[in-house]
Amino acid sequence: MKDQLETRIKPIWCPGCGNHVILSAFKRAIIELGIKREKIVVVSGIGCHGRISDYINVNSFHTIHGRVLPLALGIKLANKELIVVGFSGDGDAYAIGLEHLPHAAKKNVDIKFFVHNNMVYGLTKGQTSPTSPKGFITKSTPYGSPEEPLNPIALALISGATFVARGFVGEYVHLKELFKKAILHKGFAFIDILQPCVTYNNTYDYFRKRVYKLEDEGHDFTDFKKALEKAFEWNSRIPIGVFYQVRKKTYEEILELENKPPLVDYDITDIRIESLYHLFR
Ligand code: SF4
Ligand code: MG
Repeated sequence: MKDQLETRIKPIWCPGCGNHVILSAFKRAIIELGIKREKIVVVSGIGCHGRISDYINVNSFHTIHGRVLPLALGIKLANKELIVVGFSGDGDAYAIGLEHLPHAAKKNVDIKFFVHNNMVYGLTKGQTSPTSPKGFITKSTPYGSPEEPLNPIALALISGATFVARGFVGEYVHLKELFKKAILHKGFAFIDILQPCVTYNNTYDYFRKRVYKLEDEGHDFTDFKKALEKAFEWNSRIPIGVFYQVRKKTYEEILELENKPPLVDYDITDIRIESLYHLFR
């Protein structure tokens, strides 16, 4: 199975980049869940993370900047039999594509959204991103970023996401298990992944000293208020793990698509769209 997930393309991410870990942990999660590769679709956006769709031998779509979620949503609604996983970066997901996250979360479409959050624009050689810390010095902020960073966990929670988690690439097995939980979750599953960019923002040591696992401290992931409180814990201690999980009706269930065949199976041979032309002349 592992060989079947390999492509002929060798990753060109920098040696030591956290993206290698995300790719490996995701492949491992698919193998351990025993999912057939033809059942998975990966959608990625623009940024270093975007190459992930070239490095895994499943159906994939490398889309335009910030549009991972609309693509993923469309694919899922066209073929509900597929497991649709969107990968994005902090620039792709939280800047140009930000408007899609609250809507996908509140719709609770059964898709997965995993964000490689390195807190910097890596592909364009190191500029401040929406999650860069205040005071972060880059080419675009030579005197330090004047802004507070965006809080992706809190945003996903208040938008209505039914699975909200944070992973860290320095915790490989933990991250792989988060992927498995998110894939098995019925509904919109969001994971923000702390992904050091060794070239422009090497945060390995910073996070290794601070991260702890929510499950080790008995966090109740069914408690929304507690999850929101934990979302704001970002100091000498930074939680990783599942902040919140709840089972709610998905968009597909509300629209009662579950009992109908997928759109891709509809017979369209007898449909004559010519009769509609006059409406749009
Ligand atoms: Fe990874 Fe940063 Fe290199 Fe991009 S620039 S491949 S994010 S280490
Ligand atoms: Mg980035």
